[in-house]
Amino acid sequence: MDKLLTVTVDGEVLKFPFVWLRDNCLCEQCFHPTAKSRVYWSDLHLKIKPKEITEGKDSIQVTWEDGHKSNFEYNWLKIRNFTPESQRKYDEVIYKPTKITWHGEEFNDICSKHDYNQIVKTDEALYNWLYKLSVYGVAIVKNTPNSENAIDAIIDRVAFIKRSHYGVKFVVQHISNTNNLAYLSNNLQMHTDLPYYEYGPGINILHCFVQTVSKGGENLLVDGHYIAKYIKKNHPEEYKLLTEVDIEWNDMGTEDGREFFKLYRAPIITLDKYGEVQRINFSVPQRSSHFLTPIENIEPWYRAYSLFLQLCHKFAGKFKSEQGDILVFDNIRLIHSRNGYVDNENNVRKLIGAYIDWDEIYCKLRCLTMKLGYNKGFN
Ligand SMILES: [Zn+2]
Repeated sequence: MDKLLTVTVDGEVLKFPFVWLRDNCLCEQCFHPTAKSRVYWSDLHLKIKPKEITEGKDSIQVTWEDGHKSNFEYNWLKIRNFTPESQRKYDEVIYKPTKITWHGEEFNDICSKHDYNQIVKTDEALYNWLYKLSVYGVAIVKNTPNSENAIDAIIDRVAFIKRSHYGVKFVVQHISNTNNLAYLSNNLQMHTDLPYYEYGPGINILHCFVQTVSKGGENLLVDGHYIAKYIKKNHPEEYKLLTEVDIEWNDMGTEDGREFFKLYRAPIITLDKYGEVQRINFSVPQRSSHFLTPIENIEPWYRAYSLFLQLCHKFAGKFKSEQGDILVFDNIRLIHSRNGYVDNENNVRKLIGAYIDWDEIYCKLRCLTMKLGYNKGFN
């Protein structure tokens, strides 16, 4: 192969295409050292070859046909190895932690508890909380100060809030003439928040400021990836409908004097190009009656939907937040609901909520991975 550089690092034979090496030259002329970005304008040579290769102790120097010199450290090359095994390792250590799916019966085991003050004070606790959240899709923060602004400090540790038309933060409390069913004390059906947003919020942060002393007020939480796996295996026809038929998700109303009319179309289970679940969109209340699919799809789709909804209840874990808990979960993976409850004069249930995007959480996890030295050679 005359288009590849072959180099042995720690006894392993690694191969790298010349065009890729030249493209990724790290000299200051080719790569800006502080912007950490490639800087050429339009002069990539697809058929470039080396004139000379010199193997040093820690690095290899390539002199190209035009005289330009590139230097690559062996470790830099090793962690960019093109084998699937090496690429999987990079995915796990740096890109995104692998998700682990769960059944509701396992909820207490998978749902880790984290201390508010530790998250505010230490990077290790912050990392641990975000890591568990990304793997299992849920992680609870305990011992939150009894302040309506308490979530600000932990959000600030991650990044910043994702605002929606319900405000920067939102208060979940019973309001009779509400613009959203979440603001009633009745049973709140299975849903993901804001499925009518194309850029849906990544995680849901719900600080339990006052919990009800009545019966009810518990959350049901279910792993949408677990349901998807189950339906794919046991009900392939329904899986096809749930992953292919577009549903119109909607929200209409007024908040703080501003009107909103949101529509977004996507199947209940959105798959990526690898056939993996990318996002779960679900909401009993926020599903539009406009159904833009051929009429013969309707009945079969409702059968599939009914199965999905039944499984939401069957595979759900149950959790009742206590005052001072912040329930944090993956809003594009978990489906949640809440049992009805009864307020009284002295006890008005109140949650303070906010959202953060997954872009920011993964970003923080990677920064902490590097800072805390969890990067296992991926420098
Ligand atoms: Zn260069």
